[in-house]
Amino acid sequence: MSLADRRARLADGLAMTRARIDAACRTAGREPGEVSLLPVTKFFPASDIALLAELGCTDFGENREQEAAGKAAELGEIRKAAELAELRWHMLGHIQRNKARSVARWASLVHSLDSARLATALDGAVTAGRDAGVRSTPLAVLLQVSLDGDPARGGVTVPDLPALADQVEDSDGLELRGVMGVPPRDWEPAAAFERLAAVWADVRQRHPGATVFSAGMSGDLEAAIEFGSTCVRVGTAILGTRPVISQP
Ligand SMILES: *Cc1c(COP(=O)(O)O)cnc(C)c1O
Repeated sequence: MSLADRRARLADGLAMTRARIDAACRTAGREPGEVSLLPVTKFFPASDIALLAELGCTDFGENREQEAAGKAAELGEIRKAAELAELRWHMLGHIQRNKARSVARWASLVHSLDSARLATALDGAVTAGRDAGVRSTPLAVLLQVSLDGDPARGGVTVPDLPALADQVEDSDGLELRGVMGVPPRDWEPAAAFERLAAVWADVRQRHPGATVFSAGMSGDLEAAIEFGSTCVRVGTAILGTRPVISQP
C-alpha cells in the first residue's frame, strides 16, 4: 500500500471512530468533548504513527515496553524533521518491574498500574529519573481494575484497590489520575463497564483527582461511553487488523 493510500485508510478509520464516539455520546446524553480517543498503535510501524500525528493525533497507546521505547525514540527523530507536535505515549500493557525505569522515561500516562510492588518500582524509577535530571514531573498513572482476578489480563482486584490508591496518593513520584478496565472474558461488556464505573466512583470519592475512566476498545466503545468512559483505547477500528509479530 502506498503512503497516500495508507494515510487515507487511517483518516477513514479515525473519522469513523470519531463518528461512533459522537453517536454514543448523543445516545448517552453526554458531550463528545468528555471522551478522548486514544489510538492504540501496538504492532504497527512508526510510519503509521507519523501519519496519525500528521492527521492531528498527539497521544498513542502501546502495550509492550521494548516496542514502545523503540517507537518513542524513532518518532522523536521523525517528529523533529517533520515539525510535528509533541507526542505523548500511554502504556497499556503489563509492566515487569525491571522495566519500570524505561517506562518512566517515555510514558506520559501508565494505564496498567496493578500492584503495590509495581507502584514502588515506578515511584523509585521516577525519583531516580529526577536525580539524573531526565524527568522533572511525577508519572501519571491509572489503576487497572480486574473484576475477576484473571492474572492473564492483569489488574488489581476490587478489594485490593483502595490500598493501592492510597499508596499512589502518598508517593512522591506518582500521580493518581483514575482507573482503567477491560471486561473480563465471559462478561457482557455493558455489565462490566457498569461495575467498573461504580468502582471508579468509589475511588473518586477518596481521591478527587482520579478523573479519568479509561474504558472501551474497538468492539465495545459504545457500551463504555454509556457508563461514563472518558478515554476509549482504539486500535483495530483505526488501523485495521494487527499484523502478527513474533513475541520477543
Ligand atoms: C490492544 C489494546 C486495545 C485496543 O484494542 P482494539 O480491540 O484493537 O481496539 C485497547 N486496550 C488495551 C489494554 C489493549 O491492549
